[in-house]
Amino acid sequence: MEKRGNLSINSENMFPIIKKWLYSDHDIFYREVVSNACDAITKIRKMDMMGEYTLPDGFKPRVDIVLNDKEKTIKIIDNGIGMTADEVEEYINQVAFSGATDFLNKYKDKANADQIIGHFGLGFYSTFMVSDYVDIDTLSYKSDAASVHWTCDGGSDFEMSDGDKREIGTTITLHLSDDCLEFCNEYKAREVIEKYCSFMPYEIYLSRENEEGTETIKESEKRDDDVVIEVIEPEKKEEAKSDSEKDGEASEEKKEEERKLKIRRRPQLLNDTHPLWAKTPKDCTDEEYKEFYRKVFRDYKEPLFWIHLNMDYPFNLKGILYFPKINMEFESAEGVIKLYNNQVFIADNIKEVIPEYLMLLKGVIDCPDLPLNVSRSALQNDGFVKKISDYISKKVAEKLAGLCKTDKENYDKYWEDISPFIKYGCLKDDKFCEKMNDYILFKNLDGKYLTLPDALQINKEAEEAAAAEEAKDENGNKVEAEVVDENGNTVSGEGSDNADSKDAEKEKEPRTIYYVTDEQQQSQYINMFKAQKMDAFILNHNIDVPFIQQLESKNQDIRFQRIDADLTDTFKSKTSKKAEKEFEEIEKNIGEQMKKALKNEQLVVKIERLKDKKISSMLTVSEETRRMQDMMKMYAANGMMMGDLGMGGQTLILNANHPLVKYVMENKEGDNVNTICEQLYDLARIQNAPLDAESMTKFVQRSNDIMMLLAK
Ligand code: ADP
Repeated sequence: MEKRGNLSINSENMFPIIKKWLYSDHDIFYREVVSNACDAITKIRKMDMMGEYTLPDGFKPRVDIVLNDKEKTIKIIDNGIGMTADEVEEYINQVAFSGATDFLNKYKDKANADQIIGHFGLGFYSTFMVSDYVDIDTLSYKSDAASVHWTCDGGSDFEMSDGDKREIGTTITLHLSDDCLEFCNEYKAREVIEKYCSFMPYEIYLSRENEEGTETIKESEKRDDDVVIEVIEPEKKEEAKSDSEKDGEASEEKKEEERKLKIRRRPQLLNDTHPLWAKTPKDCTDEEYKEFYRKVFRDYKEPLFWIHLNMDYPFNLKGILYFPKINMEFESAEGVIKLYNNQVFIADNIKEVIPEYLMLLKGVIDCPDLPLNVSRSALQNDGFVKKISDYISKKVAEKLAGLCKTDKENYDKYWEDISPFIKYGCLKDDKFCEKMNDYILFKNLDGKYLTLPDALQINKEAEEAAAAEEAKDENGNKVEAEVVDENGNTVSGEGSDNADSKDAEKEKEPRTIYYVTDEQQQSQYINMFKAQKMDAFILNHNIDVPFIQQLESKNQDIRFQRIDADLTDTFKSKTSKKAEKEFEEIEKNIGEQMKKALKNEQLVVKIERLKDKKISSMLTVSEETRRMQDMMKMYAANGMMMGDLGMGGQTLILNANHPLVKYVMENKEGDNVNTICEQLYDLARIQNAPLDAESMTKFVQRSNDIMMLLAK
């Protein structure tokens, strides 16, 4: 058989295009030829299973990659199905090039070549990115097949002739071009093969044809294919032997045992044909998961925990997702999700398949059903791909919820590390947010972690106690709820439905969850909370700002409020109705006084009787205003100008139980009243937010002046 031909009308322009497009990724040819080799082995095993062919006894599927840096060749040898002359004609000469035509038509713009190659029958032709010419030597499994030799220089002409291959299978020989010789360097080859082929389903061996290296093995470990260069007899150590060992037979045995062989260095096995993700989760040990993590991600810090995905229906998907331990301060949190298609590595971090927020994780996903023969933009709109992404998201939520329910202790420990993923996930994915709602943790003032439902329960006792206090008159007697009838007459509330309905009303009111963003700055409020046995939660991460808004929108009955946003009744001591009336008058007066002293007409001042008598003044900024201000700051930080929000929402609270405030109330015209007013205001502000430079200077100055009074 001798055949010469012309490959295709398009081929002349094709190779320069492939070379140019794939330039950055031209190590990918290794993946293409090795996965073709694996496919060929799968096919011959199928033939055997279907009874169309019988594999020889002791058949061991394998792919050999043989480097020869003198000859500048790489051989890829498989014992798969092989090809007949007709098949070479059909699969290599014709199909590949019709694929190439499609390729050229569809991807005129720069697309992701990495994914396209191999799915337009171009896989084999990627070898021309690195080769001057390529040979195929192949013998088909079919009984009447003859061996075929094919050679092509990547131009439009090929030659096909009878070959001399004796074993069934295919050998592809790449004659590397001078600028690509690195690929027959053993270390480079190993690196590339490990990148793409680490988990391919058949054993892949790397060796060097012109290998001079040797290794020494025990004779008992010799394999059939070892090339023995020298037999090394063991040294006799007479003096060290005991009497029994001096016995002739025993020492003869010892001699046999210790004989060693110097052999030609064996081909190195490069892959793991049974990756952990392909096993049933219940058969995998923790140590195996950790070992796999170390090996694949070269991360020697232990992962926190992992999720093993394993499903056959409605699509095939297996994988392991690891939650790594992240040190947010020092490392950028960047994960790696490796995507495989039937154990063939496709790419890292394909965001269409993996929900974006999970990109912080490390993991492997193998999905044989994935339609990779389309571009990324098509992947985005592919319903199936969306389903995969949703499934992964659902599984992650289920695993986390399960962990929270069954192993809360560890879940608590992991929380600080995993909460950024989870909160980010909640913001990005509504369904995930709904699933995680009850398993989000909040750290309280004592450092304990509570779920949202539990967080809603706290403070109830303190609030009830405050309400009970409220319901007592000046003499400490319980007063009935005052109910007014249609005619404006007061009727007794005892046993009436109105009391119940008032309770029900209260149930419907949103529950407030108090939070702290800065434990040091807000310490005075924290102390007040603690004194009243009230609790609050630490939410000090940037992500918490949008996150609590998201939670509020999902839970209409919850309201988040920073600890310094308002004063609840819990902190106020009881006042009688009469005293309240008097207060209103004082409040007006002192308000005017403050405004005058501070030259600030907008200031809102309130007088309260706080239970904590040591507090003189404090500032509250309503939650809405503060959130607005935070947003403005964020815009400003991004260079956007926004109008000034002024003092809106701020209230200066003066504690009528504090002697200084009493002094101001009683000595309106006193010499030092203005100074006291200014100082009270600054003391309140300083506990709420850092002072601006000018105010700070004044504050320090004034404090010194005040101390001077002590020194007099
Ligand atoms: P694809 O693998 O996407 O079909 P390729 O260009 O890589 O495209 O290969 C074209 C065809 O050539 C394959 O489908 C297969 O039939 C055949 N082929 C390639 N390599 C081998 C091999 N090592 N053994 C047997 N057949 C092969």
